Amino acid sequence: DNFDDMNLREELLRGIYGYGFEKPSAIQQRAIIPCVKGRDVIAQAQSGTGKTATFSIAILQQIDTAVRECQALILAPTRELATQIQRVVMALGECTRMPCIGGTNVREDARILESGCHVVVGTPGRVYDMINRKVLRTQHIKLFVLDEADEMLSRGFKDQIQDVFKMLPPDVQVILLSATMPPDVLEVSRCFMREPVSILV
Ligand code: AMP
Repeated sequence: DNFDDMNLREELLRGIYGYGFEKPSAIQQRAIIPCVKGRDVIAQAQSGTGKTATFSIAILQQIDTAVRECQALILAPTRELATQIQRVVMALGECTRMPCIGGTNVREDARILESGCHVVVGTPGRVYDMINRKVLRTQHIKLFVLDEADEMLSRGFKDQIQDVFKMLPPDVQVILLSATMPPDVLEVSRCFMREPVSILV
């Protein structure tokens, strides 16, 4: 299997190869296509498997660059992880020419959101705050990613994740990644996801 066979945009393929990837990893081979087709996907994947690029590619493929609004929202358990994800999205996504913000600098993020931004990454608390203060508009969000869901739940973010989810359009596509699948993660997936494709790597 090959990135070339995934029907991805030309400029996204350039971003992928430019970043140094040659072949899709196991999770990328199995998850990118269902994600790009708009399916909800729940993947049990550790860090190191290529999970970040998986959902980043799925997002970048689906963004409508003509719309200057946030179209994808990624929640992560820590600011450090949010920043790492932001870097990957920006590196792969030269195609969007719109910044991705990482939820670490409140004022800077607000300024960028004001001028237009396609992808937002942050911890559940910070993202909820941005939505609540109407700095982040949610009407155009079509993808919602929960990265390291087990870690977010063990840090007590369950209510905040639910609060964020309630503010999103009802037909939002959900992609959930977790290293482990304890009952609370499965419960979140039951509440938020519709007929998800399950992937174990
Ligand atoms: P992650 O699972 O997102 O923590 O990614 C682990 C590491 O794998 C990162 O350093 C990525 O840059 C790298 N990586 C992800 N996908 C690929 C790929 N298709 N080819 C080579 N390296 C990759």
